[in-house]
Amino acid sequence: MSWEIVRSETQPCDCGVGTITYVMEIDDWNRTRSHREIACSVCLEEERQEQEVHALREKRREDLYGKAKDLATKRHLDKWLDLYARVTKKEAWRRYTGGSGYPTLGTFYKHVKDFGGVTEYMRWCFSNHFEEALKALAVKDDDVEALLAEREH
Ligand SMILES: [Zn+2]
Repeated sequence: MSWEIVRSETQPCDCGVGTITYVMEIDDWNRTRSHREIACSVCLEEERQEQEVHALREKRREDLYGKAKDLATKRHLDKWLDLYARVTKKEAWRRYTGGSGYPTLGTFYKHVKDFGGVTEYMRWCFSNHFEEALKALAVKDDDVEALLAEREH
């Protein structure tokens, strides 16, 4: 697989000291990719710092999401699991999906089997979609919501 440069444009960089080159390449399958080459230590440093800030922000968002999930799990998982306990698998599916949509009954059975039980599967569902789970439980947890909202600040 080889990439061939089909376009290359060089412009002054943002600060004007060096240059920035936009390169577009195409391969044998007509797929394209592009990248920038910054030939300026000032702009390179600026970009590095921006990426650092971005990474920190992402990390903070993930931390807050994790905290919200932990809190939701601690406070509401039992109630969620209760909803699916002591009912047939089919009834559990009906409660989870409302009787239609994803997963289909067959897929639900398969997941339950793969996870080793309705409880185990529903625990996983809660962990993966805890916001939907709280909505389904009609739970409004201000602390959880505050953590989720804080991600935007
Ligand atoms: Zn520059």
